[in-house]
Amino acid sequence: MQYKLFIPGPCEVDEAVLSAMAQQTRPHYGAEWLEVHREVSSLLRQIFETENDIFLVPGAGSALLDMALGSMLATGETVIVGDNGFFGSRLQAMARGYGLRVVSLLAEHGHPLDPDDLRRLLAREPAARAVAVIHHETATTVLNPLQELAAVTHEAGLPIIVDAISSLGGVSLPVDAWGIDVCVSVANKCLECPPGVAFISVGPRAWEWVDGHENQHHGWYLDLRTWRQYATEWADWHPSPVTMPTNNILGLRVSLRNIVGKGLENHFAHFRQAAHAVRQGLGAMGFAQMVAEPYASPIATAFKARPEFAVKELIDYLAQSQGILVSGGLGPLAGRVFRVGHMGKAATPPYIKEFLSAVALFMRQRGFEFSEADVYSGLVEKV
Ligand SMILES: *Cc1c(COP(=O)(O)O)cnc(C)c1O
Repeated sequence: MQYKLFIPGPCEVDEAVLSAMAQQTRPHYGAEWLEVHREVSSLLRQIFETENDIFLVPGAGSALLDMALGSMLATGETVIVGDNGFFGSRLQAMARGYGLRVVSLLAEHGHPLDPDDLRRLLAREPAARAVAVIHHETATTVLNPLQELAAVTHEAGLPIIVDAISSLGGVSLPVDAWGIDVCVSVANKCLECPPGVAFISVGPRAWEWVDGHENQHHGWYLDLRTWRQYATEWADWHPSPVTMPTNNILGLRVSLRNIVGKGLENHFAHFRQAAHAVRQGLGAMGFAQMVAEPYASPIATAFKARPEFAVKELIDYLAQSQGILVSGGLGPLAGRVFRVGHMGKAATPPYIKEFLSAVALFMRQRGFEFSEADVYSGLVEKV
C-alpha cells in the first residue's frame, strides 16, 4: 500500500529525484564520481551556509550523532545535552553509549530550551566539555533557539553539537554565522529525498576537540578522523573511506540543485505556506496547536487531541479509509497529540487539499460542524 505521507519525515519526493536514482550502479570512485561528489558537497555547503568540512556518510542521521560524540569526547567526560522531547532523550542515551557523563538541560515538552538555563548549568558544571542539542525537536515540533544556545556555549569556550536532522533546509541555519561546530542532517527530511545518506559539517573548534583526543578512538567507521584521512589522502580518486550509496547521492544531487536553484529562502517559504494552510484548516475544525509561536516549527505541526474521541481513531481512519499517514505522539505524548509533516509532497496544494478534506470527512461523520470555506482558506495555489 502506497500511503500518502504526512508524517514528520521521511517524505514523498519529486519524480525527478526518483528517476535520477533509477540508474545502473556506478562506482563510488574515479574521475566521474569525483565530479558528482564535488558538486554535491558544494551544494550542501551552500545549504549549511558554511565553509566547513562536510562529509557524506551512508546511513541514518543517528550514526552521525554517534560519530560526533564518539570522535570529540572521551569516555568519562561530561557533556550537557538538551532534553525537551523524545529526540533529546535519545541524544542523551547516545552520549551514555560512549560512556559520557550526561548533564540534562531540561525543558518541558512543547517548550523550547532556555539559553539562560544553559548559562547557569555551564557555570555549575565546569567539567563540561561540550553541549549537544536538537535544533527542531520533531517529537514536539518545537524549534529550539539555536543561535542563542550556540552563543552561550561559546561564551564558555565549548563546542556545540547540533542535531539538525529535521531542520536543515527547512528553516534558516547559517552554520558559520552562528558558529555551529558540528551540524548533522539527512537527505530524507527537509531536503526531500529518500533515506540512505546523512551529512556532517565539522568546524575548526570541533577539529581541535577531535585532535585533542588523539588516543581516544571509538571504532573506525564512525570516527571523524577516518573520514578526514580519506578526504585528504585519497582526494584525487576515492574521497570517502567506504562504498557510497551512489544512487541515493545522484537523487540527492537533483533535489539540492533544485533547492539551491530556486533559492534557500523560497524553499523555507514553501514549508511555511504549507504549515499555514494545514494549521488554518485544522484550526477551522477545532484543533489546537501544541506549540506556541514563535517556537512552532514550520516543518511539522503537533495538534492536541480532542476530548471527544481518541486520537488513534482519527489516525486509523486516515490510514485505513483515506490512505493517508500522520504520526501519533512519541513517548509521553502518545495519545495526547498527532503530528503532521509539511515536507515533500505533503507541502503541495493537491496533497494538502486532499488531507484537509479527509480530516473534514472524519469530523463531519463525528457530528462536528464548521465552515467548509474556512477549512481551505489558508490554501494558496502556489505552495
Ligand atoms: C528523524 C530524526 C532523527 C532520527 O534520524 P535517523 O535518520 O532515523 O537516525 C533524529 N533526530 C531528529 C530531530 C529527527 O527528526
